[in-house]
Amino acid sequence: MSERTGRGILDRLRSDFVLGAEGYVFELERRGYIKAGPYVPEVVLDFPDAVKELHREFLRAGSEVMVALTYYAHREKLKDVGRENDLERMNRQAVRLANEVAREGDALVAGNICNTWAYDPQNAQASARIVRAMYEEQLTWAVEEGIDFVISETNDYLGEALIGLQVIKELKLPAMVTLASVQPAQTRDGYDYVEACKILADAGADIVGLNCDRGPETMLPIIEKVRRSVNCYVAAQPVPYKTNAHAATFESLKTANGATAFPLALEPFLHNRFEMADFAQRARALGVNYIGICCGGAPHYVRAIAETLGRMVPASKYSPAMELHPMLGTQVDDKDKAFLTDWKVSIPSSRVEEGQEL
Ligand SMILES: [Zn+2]
Repeated sequence: MSERTGRGILDRLRSDFVLGAEGYVFELERRGYIKAGPYVPEVVLDFPDAVKELHREFLRAGSEVMVALTYYAHREKLKDVGRENDLERMNRQAVRLANEVAREGDALVAGNICNTWAYDPQNAQASARIVRAMYEEQLTWAVEEGIDFVISETNDYLGEALIGLQVIKELKLPAMVTLASVQPAQTRDGYDYVEACKILADAGADIVGLNCDRGPETMLPIIEKVRRSVNCYVAAQPVPYKTNAHAATFESLKTANGATAFPLALEPFLHNRFEMADFAQRARALGVNYIGICCGGAPHYVRAIAETLGRMVPASKYSPAMELHPMLGTQVDDKDKAFLTDWKVSIPSSRVEEGQEL
């Protein structure tokens, strides 16, 4: 078990990058605990051990932040599945689960708010009141259960993101605010993504950037511009899918017969762990401070990112040692050898320090 340092998010970011990990809803859907469609995290109440296990896997893989699984655990979404009465219980329990696992290592706990689908720029004032009330109730419960900072994410509207930021700042917590980038260049209320990040930074966000929707190839060019335009910390949490110039988001990827692959048939587009490690290297080189992963994320990606950026993590104990593979270990050709060496997939177990095991 690791020792807890008690270092907060801003303290960590001042001295190094911070590694995050998300994609809880997608992964728990794949594991059979969340219903695709509504994507409400009922698992928090119905199978809390499943949530803790995934937190633990991300922790062992090197994530420094346990993000409370309150994504879509807001009034609007719970209405859709008839669990509005479980709203408070679900929110509180999600933060408790994140705390329990964070204490097994040296991780922080992030409260989480997201796009509400209740914000309407045509009716900004009235809808802002509804959104604000939803964020206030979620974050009040989160603060009572204990969080270190808040991640407001997948924001489609700058207007909505600013409401979340205001609520976080009123609670005097560090704020990470990241935008969804579903549209080609602008938020749904018409702000260029880079400009929107700058407005959020000017409004007091400690960390700004993008999460979800785009894979590394189509997210990094925007992130590069964000990095140049703000002085605060920058976050990039792409999805691990091969988005490209023709399909910039994972929502727009098509299967071979032309059907929409999102969200249930995306597997053929997954990046491998080495490609996600490469993303992390490029993000680091650009000066990204908070490096993570979103929907589609899984522990093997997180460990590959941690290791490529020079960190040994508890799960490194079981990192690949392909020279010990009964077939590959003796029959690798030069091309395979070059591949394995390039990606540094073999890490001597002696480098795993004492006490890192969870
Ligand atoms: Zn996502």
